This record gives sequence, structure tokens and C-alpha cells, in this order.
Amino acid sequence: MKAIRCNVDLAINGAPPAFTEPVHVGRPNIGNREAFLQRVNQILDNQWLTNNGPMVQEFENRIAKYLGVKHCVAMCNGTIALEIAIRALGLEGEVIVPSWTFVATAHALYWQGITPVFADIDPATHNLDPDAVRRMITPRTSGIICVHLWGRPAPIAELQAIADEHGLKLMFDAAHAFGSTYKGQSIGRFGACEVLSFHATKAFNTMEGGAVVTNDNELAEAMRLMRNFGFKGYDNIIHPGTNGKMIEVCAAMGLANLDSVDEIFSINRRNHAAYKQALAGVPGISVLDYDATERNSHHYIVIEIDERCSARRDEIVAALHAENILARKYFWPGCHKMKPYRDLFPHAELLLEDTRTVAQRVVVLPNGTSLQLQDITTIAAILRVLAAQ
Ligand SMILES: *Cc1c(COP(=O)(O)O)cnc(C)c1O
Repeated sequence: MKAIRCNVDLAINGAPPAFTEPVHVGRPNIGNREAFLQRVNQILDNQWLTNNGPMVQEFENRIAKYLGVKHCVAMCNGTIALEIAIRALGLEGEVIVPSWTFVATAHALYWQGITPVFADIDPATHNLDPDAVRRMITPRTSGIICVHLWGRPAPIAELQAIADEHGLKLMFDAAHAFGSTYKGQSIGRFGACEVLSFHATKAFNTMEGGAVVTNDNELAEAMRLMRNFGFKGYDNIIHPGTNGKMIEVCAAMGLANLDSVDEIFSINRRNHAAYKQALAGVPGISVLDYDATERNSHHYIVIEIDERCSARRDEIVAALHAENILARKYFWPGCHKMKPYRDLFPHAELLLEDTRTVAQRVVVLPNGTSLQLQDITTIAAILRVLAAQ
């Protein structure tokens, strides 16, 4: 690593870091604590801890209403929700996914005995490029799982047209996209179904949790059976299944956080604007923007570092860590380069040029309700120094 001078250099050499306590990417947002604790007491009074209890039912109704979708099937996490959706849809053979996503998108398929086939992204949006998807279709392809990356909507209409033309199933990994819109309509209503994650690190969380949302009655019914061992009634197993149930405490957390969700998103939006302003004009560092005409949780503060910046991406991450700013290289180096998939497709990179470029450039910075505006000023000042070395 090349020498980085000034205060950043001092920190690396043992001077106190800019932050005495670490500031994280993905520190959980905690909504109304009193409301949560009250609900936990109710759960203990009820002695109904799991198995489709009243909190989960209320949570499903509230989420379905919030998104304007017919069914919300709550699950223990987003990964199991993906697996159950994949099985309920009958995907098989090969399914096209982005490599530029959290590895769970690919793992959920692979864990179900399906080959994830990686398609390239549009470097401007970070979402799947429809032309790249077309190029990856083979006679074994049964579907497409597209991710609304950073909560920015994927090119839904174009992908649906491809799916219709080739008789493929289309579903969305909407783990980043709770509260996002596409052409003014809530994410959650598109494709055959959409999968949400409510993991602690997401903008809106239930500690651990996930859901599949859909307007398809039969699909919702199949997923309800699958998440509960295939039980219909007390003694009657009518379907193969697993244990994908959300517990009552998680639903209670979700209900308490749902009351605060608009406030959480507006703090994120304020923080994103502050980062944009503080980093304006820094050579080689650009803050990924959100479309002002769509809703977005503004949860992800994504910066891209290009050649005009004098420090390299990994040097910047190391220097930020030395200052106790726990920024992250998200999704690096891309799923296709992670061991299970590298073994499967040793030459995948040849068709993933834009994924490779973006994976080398991205850093995600801290955000969330515990971040102060002063913290953003400090983080931006450090980046400015690093960029100008
Ligand atoms: C978080 C995430 C998941 C997995 O969700 P969990 O609830 O953590 O299992 C899947 N896909 C993407 C894109 C994610 O970011």
C-alpha cells in the first residue's frame, strides 16, 4: 500500500482514529422500543411463541397493505423465503441471476439443485442488463431471478417481455427494495412473486426475517404449506415442506419498526443528501444516486471509485477502517468468483465485464438512524484527503 500522508497516515501509524467507537455499515435501525417491549410482553402472556401466531398474522396483513399486494407469506429469513419461492414456482435446470448481488441469491438456487447462470449488469444502474439476460438463455433455462439492487427497480418491463417470449418464470429478489417503487407502484407486485429480507442489516428489519409477496393465490397457498412442513390442519401432511416460519418476537419487532419506517427512510434520505453534498467535486469518487421520481429507502450509501482518484479502492477501505469507519466492499468479487461458482464456471468472467468493473469500484459507507450529520462531514473529509493524495 502506498504511503498516505496527513491525518489518515497518522491514524494508520497508531494515532487515535477519527471515531473512538466504530461506525458500521448495516447497524440495525431500531424503531419504537416501548411498542416492541409491550408486544413482547403480550407474546409471553399469550404463550404463543411461533406457528402462525397473532403477531405474524398482523405483520403479514400490515406488510401486504403497505405494499398493496394480495399475499404476504412471512418467513424466518430472506434466504429460506427465496428457496421456498423457487420450489413453489417449480424452477429447475438453469436460472439466470446477476453475479453482482449478495451470494444468497445464487446459493438459494444451488441449494435447491438448480444451476445459477450469471448475466452481466448495466454499469449505470447495477441491475441486470436485459440484453445480457437474453444471451444466457439455453434450452435448460426455466427462469430469471432479478435483484432490485440497492433498492433501485430493475428493468421490470423488459425482463417480463423476455420471460414471456421464452416461456420463463420471472421472480425478484427484492431484499433491498422494501419501500421502493417502480413507475410509482410499490415493489412487491411484480413478476410471479417478490422476496423480501428483513435481516437486521436491512433498512427495515425484524431482527431475522423475510417474506414472499405475491398476487397469486395458488402460489401463496403452496408457500404457506411449504414453510410449515406441508401441514394442512393438525395431522394432515399434504405437501413436502420445511420449517420456514417467522417467530412471534420477530413479527413484533417488524410491527414496531413499521410504525417508524417512514422516519427511518427520511433520516436515510437526509444522510444520503448530506453525503452527496459533502463529496461533491471529489476527484474519482461518485455517490450513487436515487431517482427522485421513485421512492427508495436510501439505505445504501454506495460510492464508486474510478481511476481519477489517486488512492485505490482497497487502500481507501483500509484507511477508513483504520479510522474506525467500517465501510464495506459489497458483493466483491462477484458471486461468479466465489469458490462454489468459480469451480462451476471457470470462464464466467469473460461474459461479465461490467460486473467486474463495478465490483472493483464499489464501497458502501455507513448510514442509518444512529449516524449523525457531523459523522458524515468527518467521513467525507477523510475521503477527500484520500482522493487528493
Ligand atoms: C440480505 C439479502 C438476502 C438474504 O436475506 P437474509 O434475510 O439475510 O437471509 C438475499 N438477497 C439479497 C440481495 C440480500 O441483500
